[in-house]
Amino acid sequence: MKTLHPDILISGAGIAGATVAAGLRGRGYSVIQLEASGQQLDSARGDHLGPRVVETLANWNILDAFFAAGAEKRLGAKWLTPEGDVILHSSMDDLPLPHPYYIVLNHDLIATTALDLAVTDSAFDYTLFRPVAARDITIGDNALGGVTEVNIKTPDGEAISIQPRMTIACDGRSSKIREACGFDIAHAYDYEKPFVVLFGPRGELQDPRNEINSYMSMSGSVGRIPRMGGQWKIGLAINKEDIGRWKSSTVDDRKRLLAERAGPLGVLETEVAGFYPVIRRETARWAKGTTVLLGDACHTVHPARGQGMNFGIRCAAKLFEFLPDPKEMTDSALVSQRLSDYEAAVKPRTDMQLSDNHERGLHMDGTGLERMQAEIPALRAIAQDPDASFRYRMTMAGYSDRLEPKS
Ligand SMILES: Cc1cc2nc3c(=O)[nH]c(=O)nc-3n(C[C@H](O)[C@H](O)[C@H](O)COP(=O)(O)OP(=O)(O)OC[C@H]3O[C@@H](n4cnc5c(N)ncnc54)[C@H](O)[C@@H]3O)c2cc1C
Repeated sequence: MKTLHPDILISGAGIAGATVAAGLRGRGYSVIQLEASGQQLDSARGDHLGPRVVETLANWNILDAFFAAGAEKRLGAKWLTPEGDVILHSSMDDLPLPHPYYIVLNHDLIATTALDLAVTDSAFDYTLFRPVAARDITIGDNALGGVTEVNIKTPDGEAISIQPRMTIACDGRSSKIREACGFDIAHAYDYEKPFVVLFGPRGELQDPRNEINSYMSMSGSVGRIPRMGGQWKIGLAINKEDIGRWKSSTVDDRKRLLAERAGPLGVLETEVAGFYPVIRRETARWAKGTTVLLGDACHTVHPARGQGMNFGIRCAAKLFEFLPDPKEMTDSALVSQRLSDYEAAVKPRTDMQLSDNHERGLHMDGTGLERMQAEIPALRAIAQDPDASFRYRMTMAGYSDRLEPKS
């Protein structure tokens, strides 16, 4: 059996794994990546990356490739009453940021575009095995723990033993690496209401600011979300018992169902893009020995705030600051120490943001009335206070760490 000793093994090439691979170009590490699936990612999932992540993508020389792949800018979001009156306008383009905008790129294109950069960079010591799953995993029995070996069979039938100096587990909500290493789950919650995503026709959206419109109503909130190419999608939490009704619905049924939540949406012609059960899974630790979890592998979150991909890439940017130099990667004690330092520096603040996201998820599980009573006055208060509005928008943009503490 052939044996390989990469500096870094990345398990999974979804959004976290693909962007990490592209971000590791030019840093001098040898990298092997495994991706279990031969299919493209689901296009209906998250496609908006916030200003902080855009800054990271620019630093990693990925942003231009995203624009070349069709990414568009989104300059803000509006919270609206069911009739369409603005409660809060959360603009980004007037914030003092290097990239004061979100980018919008279909979920599958984010991963394929990033992965292409890694695969085609001839100066990058990088190999992608696909479709190949990390399944046969050996964990170190010394104090450091973590992955010491992954045995794979390539699509050509070649058996390979991968003995990585470090492993980044980006293998999603059912992470095999997480399971093999025995990471405990600290927070588990299955949200009551599944999420449904509807697509509108391409080329219909005529908004030069490409903004999200979120309507808050007694029957639950509903968001009209721009996609690339002048398309838009609708995302809403529905009652479990209504899934059948939504599945068998006609275009006219959906117009009626949307009009119940927000009048202006009742004219839209939609098709059903997907149904998603929503869960919270957060691990107690992120690092064990020379293995670190990233993305949904360590925090699967409610899409209430569109943060899942964004959390993964923001954490990756921090992780890179802690990596030992390539020539130091053979020192497993040092690698382990750096991963533990990364966890200590980044996890507590992220945990607070994850808790806040969970609160939003719980609100979406509640009735529309509860949510309106809790959120509309809070949003109106933000809209009327310039300092609160600035803090809110900087937080949404991913820059809460750059705000002065409240006096
Ligand atoms: C409806 C919906 C809307 C969302 N909207 C947003 C949004 O607007 N913004 C946002 O930031 N987030 C959003 N999210 C969340 C976002 O989609 C996820 O947080 C993100 O995709 C997670 O990326 P990941 O790479 O960690 O995991 P995944 O995307 O799940 O990728 C894991 C990859 O690992 C592979 N894999 C699994 N097991 C193995 C194995 N054993 N070996 C090798 N490979 C393996 C899988 O095939 C997969 O490709 C949304 C989620 C949903 C459901």
